[in-house]
Amino acid sequence: MKETWMAKLKEKGMRITAQREAIVDILLNSEKALDPLEVYDLTRQSHPSLGVVTVYRTMECLEHLGLLQKVHQACGCNKFLKLKEGHHHLLICTNCGKAVYFEGLNFENAFSEIAENNNFLLQDHWLQLSGLCPRCQKI
Ligand SMILES: [Zn+2]
Ligand SMILES: [Zn+2]
Repeated sequence: MKETWMAKLKEKGMRITAQREAIVDILLNSEKALDPLEVYDLTRQSHPSLGVVTVYRTMECLEHLGLLQKVHQACGCNKFLKLKEGHHHLLICTNCGKAVYFEGLNFENAFSEIAENNNFLLQDHWLQLSGLCPRCQKI
């Protein structure tokens, strides 16, 4: 997975550096959606000379490549999560940010019906549920 990400970044003209590899590691191993500043803080622990611009540029490129999924937050800011292949929906913990992908249930048909009732031709939908993960319910 990491090799694929690095190869795609390189194709886009990004220089492959230890810092950039560390950014990719953080994103691949995170079970939470992260914003660029969080990635910056986490990566800087091992790469103190890292610049925040590098993080923004790398994450922007990964999003364009379709490797990161943008996750909308209640605050209006965006976090990013590694994209899972196929069609999925997301559960996000509002407290710790843990993200879980889940597959469609029978509501997929309801979406087509809603579209039809409004004379829309349905192309796609993006569903994100928010709540508290098991760990955060115990706090
Ligand atoms: Zn949580
Ligand atoms: Zn769906």
